[in-house]
Amino acid sequence: MPKSEIAIFDTTLRDGTQGTGINFTLKDKLEIAEMLDSFGIDYIEGGFPLASERETAFFKEVRSLNLKHSKICSFGSTRKPGGKASHDAHINALLQAETPTVVIVGKAWDAHAEKVIGTTLEENLNMISDSVSHLKSEGREVIFDLEHFFDGYAANREYAEKVLRTATDAGADCLVLCDTNGGTLPQTAVKIVEDLGRGNYAPLGIHFHNDTGCAVAASIQCIDSGAVHVQGTINGWGERVGNANLCAIIPNLALKMKKDIYCGQNLKDLTKLSRFTAEKANIIPEKNQAYVGETAFSHKAGQHTDVIIKAEYLMEHIDSSLVGNSRRILLSELAGKSTIVRKLAKYGEFDKNSEIVAQLTNTLKQKEMEGYEYEAAEASFDVIMRKALDRFTPLFELQNYHLESYKTMTSKSKTVGRLFLNAGGIEHMGAAVGEGPVDTLNASIRDALIPSFPFLKNIHLTDYRVRVLNPEEATAAKVRVFITFTDGKTDWDSVGVSENIIEASWEALIDAINFYYNNDVLEE
Ligand SMILES: [Zn+2]
Repeated sequence: MPKSEIAIFDTTLRDGTQGTGINFTLKDKLEIAEMLDSFGIDYIEGGFPLASERETAFFKEVRSLNLKHSKICSFGSTRKPGGKASHDAHINALLQAETPTVVIVGKAWDAHAEKVIGTTLEENLNMISDSVSHLKSEGREVIFDLEHFFDGYAANREYAEKVLRTATDAGADCLVLCDTNGGTLPQTAVKIVEDLGRGNYAPLGIHFHNDTGCAVAASIQCIDSGAVHVQGTINGWGERVGNANLCAIIPNLALKMKKDIYCGQNLKDLTKLSRFTAEKANIIPEKNQAYVGETAFSHKAGQHTDVIIKAEYLMEHIDSSLVGNSRRILLSELAGKSTIVRKLAKYGEFDKNSEIVAQLTNTLKQKEMEGYEYEAAEASFDVIMRKALDRFTPLFELQNYHLESYKTMTSKSKTVGRLFLNAGGIEHMGAAVGEGPVDTLNASIRDALIPSFPFLKNIHLTDYRVRVLNPEEATAAKVRVFITFTDGKTDWDSVGVSENIIEASWEALIDAINFYYNNDVLEE
């Protein structure tokens, strides 16, 4: 494959996991690696092979994924002072990870070599040279990370340049200038990259942290000044305030700077990549993230929306579909009504100014204020429309349910449930033991009703997601529950909102069942 102008290096699985609250299981790491590969990221830094068994296992298992494009990299430091790279445990661990590329980090700031490692400036250079040349002699592509490069350059330019020279002469394939403290401003970084010049050393890369809020800016400007390799993380996660955000760097390079990057061809999957990674980390994605955030292309009602409908290019900096995002016109008299007319189309033709459209607009507004969201819960919105049209028949009415959770010293917690329902004028009782309250309620409904309504055997709950809506309220916060059901052919989603997670789940559960009952059972 032809080499692209700029290489994209992802360190979500290594530097990204230094961020507060970012944890991945081995399975998550493998799934993210697969996703990064199908997106076309050039390098994926997998972690430090000696750090834990999970890290070691990652390097073993990632080999069986047969990635199409990405090169997996193991990460470690240069050999210890006074030893030999060929006998160094860390260097050997990098080789045993059997990755085509290895990343080693070394000191570029004289004070760090002397005070942190406690060695001489001369020995620090030997460590770099010996480590790089040993890994090269073992056939690896070697990326050398110069830790604290920009601060080191400011403190002792001559020594920082010696480090670059040493790594270049030892055969490093790329020298990554790291702003480890994250305090360097773009103009300072650019000046330094320009001073180093093009072609004097091995190809240059950059690695910024976002402590000044300028990591993306510094990255793209250094690329304009000659860097050909850029490191960052998905969603900008990382230590302290984070690393440079690849979800902004990539579209900036591809769309604004017209750089040739391999993943540019898959740009429309960028939003999916961002949200998938957030889902794996169980982190609510930042809504206002550039390009991929939920509100990146959203517009409030009024005149503004009119302009959008007439000529989007007047209000949006790019076409949102280029990065796989979509425009959201937030609910308003105008936008809401046309959306509702579109949704009502399955039940007939309705005028924008009709009574029913006005009524649904108000209901929707009210519900959204309470925390409901119907964009990903069509089934619940369908139930609302049917109620308004008088075309809704509930499968059952609840009389009561009772749930009890129990746990012993030696067993996992279980939930026992019992409920009484009224369906078709007859009282039904159902009982079940489940893993948790939602599972138990679902099983109890089925237990009560399957003998009379065998269609319930064909539908199953496949996904259950919970979001806390106002976390500052702590345990009194509202939760929004999304549930996905399937009949094996199609899926449908419903939503519930409450301060009580069981109540929110119950709401979503009965919407999902009633949706199927009304659309697929009664209307067939
Ligand atoms: Zn870093």
